[in-house]
This record gives sequence, structure tokens and C-alpha cells, in this order.
Amino acid sequence: MNHSVFRDLAPNYIENLTSEETNRQMEKHMEQCEDCRKYVKDMQEDLNIERMHKQKDEKRNIDYLKKVRSKNRKKIFKIVGALLSLFLVLSISYHFLFINMWIADGNNVKKTVQQQGSSVTLTFQSKKDNRYLLADMKKQKSQDYTDWIIIYESWNILSSTKLNPFSELAAASKDGVDITYNFLDENTLLLDNGEEKKLTDEDKIEIQYKDHTEEMRLKDLYRAENNH
Ligand SMILES: [Zn+2]
Repeated sequence: MNHSVFRDLAPNYIENLTSEETNRQMEKHMEQCEDCRKYVKDMQEDLNIERMHKQKDEKRNIDYLKKVRSKNRKKIFKIVGALLSLFLVLSISYHFLFINMWIADGNNVKKTVQQQGSSVTLTFQSKKDNRYLLADMKKQKSQDYTDWIIIYESWNILSSTKLNPFSELAAASKDGVDITYNFLDENTLLLDNGEEKKLTDEDKIEIQYKDHTEEMRLKDLYRAENNH
């Protein structure tokens, strides 16, 4: 094998692409020719350096990808965290503004009784600004007629969550909450279901505040106009 053929084959040889027969001939030539031996050695070193650079580049690329991925992960955590906090804040605000209500302090409630013809309206108003009152009513349908009214305070008129299925929240407005009783005469109440109820001294309304309970006889309601 002469030099020029050897050098033509050298690139393939160092990449292990040459046949066994060719390898044998080339090794034989290198044993005799120092120039070609050096030529192959240099070429191999160049190739090694090139491979090393390639590996470094690859490693750099992988590091870059890892960094990007961890950055993205941090971003996702941040977004999820922000959304969770927002949700929490909204839930708590919603609860306090729209759902939260508490039994009213009697000192904060102004109660008036007004009669118009045969209907008597009890009105509960908050003495405080930005507070609304709600009345939870449990009407008794038994012989001894007692209406239970629990007066609640809230930040918002929309706290109309029903407390339990057997009670009803009286419609409330900015001006307060009204509860109306219709009388046929002084001693006869007209019930919601159209029945008449002869009133006795035992027929009462009990109004529950935070600190005390107020009791009114239904009989006294008629012509009571602001006497209470
Ligand atoms: Zn040679």
C-alpha cells in the first residue's frame, strides 16, 4: 500500500469503517512508515478533541433545558399559588359579605309596630350603618300560637341563606325587615293558610336577640302602634 492510498483510507480507518483486510494492510504500512503513523495519530487526536467539544455542547444544551424546565416549574407553582390565594380571598370575602350573619344585638335593633287598617307590621331596623337585619321566622301551627323570630345582622342584604327548612327568612330591604300580621278583629288573627285563629293570652311572639328574648302577646299587637 502506498502513501496516497493510505491517506485516502485514513479517515475511514479511524472511524472504524474500513474492512478487516484493509485494516491489516494499513497497519502493515504504518509499521514501516513513520509519517503515516503520525498522520493517523494526529487525525485521531483531532477527532477526539472534536468529540469532546461535541459532548460539552450536548451537556450545555441539557443543562440549558434543565434550567428552562425548572424555571417553568417555578412559574407554574407561582401561578397555582396565586390562583389559590385569590380563590381563598374571594371565598372568605364572599363568606363575610354574603353568607355570614350573626344574631343581632338587641341594642342595635330598632323595632317599630305600625297598624294599617287590620294589618299590623313589625319592622326591625339596624341602628348601624352598613348593617342589614334578617328575620328567621318559625311559625307555630299548634294550639298555643307562638311565633319565634330570630333577628340576625349581616353585612349584606343578600345573606338570604335559609337556616333550616322549617323556617323562613322574612324579606329584608334597606329599610329593614317587615313581618306583617293580618287581623280580622282585635282578638282574631288571619293565618297564612286562610284559617282564623281566636287569640288567647298564650299566643305570643318571641323575638330572639343575642343578649335577650323579647316576648309580645299577639293580642297586644293590635292597636299597639309604637307603644313598645
Ligand atoms: Zn506512508
